[in-house]
Amino acid sequence: APILDLVEVGKTYRSGSLAVDALRGVDLTVEEGEYVAVMGPSGSGKSTLMHILGCLDVPSSGRYRLAGEDVSDMEERQLADIRNRRIGFVFQQFNLLPAMSAWRNVELPLVYAGVPRAERRARALEALGRVGLSERVAHRPGELSGGQQQRVSVARALVTDPSLILADEPTGNLDSVSTTDVLGLFRELHEQGRTVVLITHEPDVAAQAERVIHILDGQVVDDQLVTTGTSS
Ligand code: ADP
Ligand code: ADP
Repeated sequence: APILDLVEVGKTYRSGSLAVDALRGVDLTVEEGEYVAVMGPSGSGKSTLMHILGCLDVPSSGRYRLAGEDVSDMEERQLADIRNRRIGFVFQQFNLLPAMSAWRNVELPLVYAGVPRAERRARALEALGRVGLSERVAHRPGELSGGQQQRVSVARALVTDPSLILADEPTGNLDSVSTTDVLGLFRELHEQGRTVVLITHEPDVAAQAERVIHILDGQVVDDQLVTTGTSS
């Protein structure tokens, strides 16, 4: 079974008499282990799709199954539980807590998951090691470069061992060196068999994935496997 399965998903935002159809009839399946980029211009519905895929919001119509579980009609409390168990988030703005060390930022999802302190510490340290930040665990976000901060948030995303890594414009605030760095991490996660969904408006970033989906006006208009040109 696919890890992500959207059937005829629609999302309508209403305010007073005004209704905006942000997503319209989106059918999409992603298999476990795929590395998918979602592209589209501003206003096309990328954030809305990201919010639904990430169980931060539910569809107005249609069904969404995550790892076999239908989340379409869940209450916020259940959604929060699914997020904590299944999804690692990476955001453009990093979303790290400024007063906490890298180590404490990374262990936070494990606090929510009720993992005992000693195990939390060990797993957070291991995750920071995996992103190459063993030497920076006691630093606060303000003491780290943008690229290092984003590596901390990748560590936070993978510390719970999630089924899905969901990244929303993860390189939007990074220079080209840090972008290469962070994209290298996503590729590693993919090679380890994780499912990665990366939302971006940058073609060069999207080209790192193995499948690129284009959305326009709330609809999937293109869905293609990337040819890397390494074989011929
Ligand atoms: P993107 O991330 O591709 O820029 P969005 O998903 O943010 O696109 O927006 C898709 C459409 O939905 C746009 O027309 C936007 O104005 C509208 N929209 C997004 N969020 C809301 C909201 N909370 N209330 C009303 N309209 C919204
Ligand atoms: P709760 O506080 O009910 O436990 P949260 O709202 O903190 O649940 O969300 C749980 C997970 O979802 C966290 O791992 C958090 O990183 C992620 N997350 C949720 N919402 C957002 C959001 N708007 N922006 C960012 N992260 C979110």
